[in-house]
Formats: sequence, structure tokens, C-alpha cells
Amino acid sequence: MKTINIAIDGPAGAGKSTIAKMVSAEMGYIYVDTGAMYRAVALYLTENNIPDEDIEKHIGNVDVSLKFIDGVQRVYLGDRDVSDIIRTPEISMAASRTSAIPAVRARLFDLQQKLARENNIIMDGRDIGTVVLPNADVKIFLTASAEERANRRFKELAEKPDCPSYEEILKDIIQRDYNDMNRETAPLKQAEDAVLVDTTELTLEQSAARITEIIKERV
Ligand code: C5P
Repeated sequence: MKTINIAIDGPAGAGKSTIAKMVSAEMGYIYVDTGAMYRAVALYLTENNIPDEDIEKHIGNVDVSLKFIDGVQRVYLGDRDVSDIIRTPEISMAASRTSAIPAVRARLFDLQQKLARENNIIMDGRDIGTVVLPNADVKIFLTASAEERANRRFKELAEKPDCPSYEEILKDIIQRDYNDMNRETAPLKQAEDAVLVDTTELTLEQSAARITEIIKERV
């Protein structure tokens, strides 16, 4: 049976994961966060002190897998659940750097395609509509201004100890956008047949409603 595949791409902090979770819960699809897979690889490389030039040699040892508990994704390195510890600014930056390496992308590509073959999914990332699922049933490119994305991230982190300043967050976002858009392999860009949704002026609920509407029109 053919599965339904929805691709959502866009820059860091556009609200992809929060919105994709809301929409997938409503539609009964599995939500796959591919950024978490890149983060898990980055954690492995960081913890094992593997320099970028040796990544290709070691990538075969990185065992990333996903489990879905009540529809919620958990990401594993071997049998260790790393879903929470991959959410630091250090791992964000390490994932942004190491995801440009073709061997890292190749390692995760097969896993992502297999998930899409076997499940009705909403998959978010940077290259899902362009590279991983070029035949996805629906493609959405979700974006917002860098300032608005930094503002949202700042509000999200404000309660936590060691919260970075708004300026630091904005600088990180601009750097990650640059890395993602300018790498040679699978750069972040809107697929020709993707629908653009700019959430700068939208609330989460409005963004989720707009995306649900786009999906329902097409599936
Ligand atoms: O989406 P998230 O910010 O968690 O992703 C972490 C990093 O992984 C991104 O900055 C990006 O460089 C990389 N990534 C990617 N391709 C994807 C998903 C994430 O290169 N499909």
C-alpha cells in the first residue's frame, strides 16, 4: 500500500517541529524530526572527539534509530535515548557543521526513506522535499524572518538557566541559515513544487491550521 508522505522544510526556528507535531496528531500520521537524527550523529562525534576529517571513517559505527512512543518520536544512539540531551546550542552548532558532510547525510538518507515507505508520515528537515522525498504528496516550505525566529527561541529558553541573550540566539540562527543554505550537498532551499508558508505574522495555531488546510486540499 502506498503511504502518504508530507515534507516540511525550512530554516531553524520556523516552528516546523511544533507545527508538524500538531498537524500529525490531528491527521493520525507519524511525525519524523530529521534534525534530531543529525543532532544524534553530532552528539556521537562530539562525545567521541572525532575530528571532521575522520568522520567518513567512523560514520559506519554510528547507530541512530527512532522509536515512536504514543506517536512521539524518541531518538536513540545504540540503546541510549538521547532525545533530550541533543537540544543544547553546542549540539545545534555541531549538527549544523557536520550535516554538511556527505557521509553523514548518506548514513541518514536510507533510514529516512525507509520510514517514509513504511508509514504515513510528516517529515521535517532541510532537504526532505528536494532530496529525501522528491515524490512527496505534499511539500511545504515553512519560514519566518530571522528576527522573529530568534525572538521565539529566546522566549522558549527564557525560563531556563544559562539562557543565551537574544543577540546570541539571532547570531546562531543567521550562522546556521548560512551553513544550511550554502553547503554543497543537499542545501536548504524551497522545492519547486513546495507551497511557501511564512509564519512571521502567524500564531502557532494559525500556522498549523494553514498547513492542515494545504494537506487536506491535496491528499
Ligand atoms: O532542525 P534542527 O535545527 O533540529 O536541525 C539541526 C541541524 O541539522 C540543522 O541546523 C541542519 O544543519 C541539520 N539538518 C539537515 N538536514 C535535515 C535536518 C537537519 O542538514 N533534513
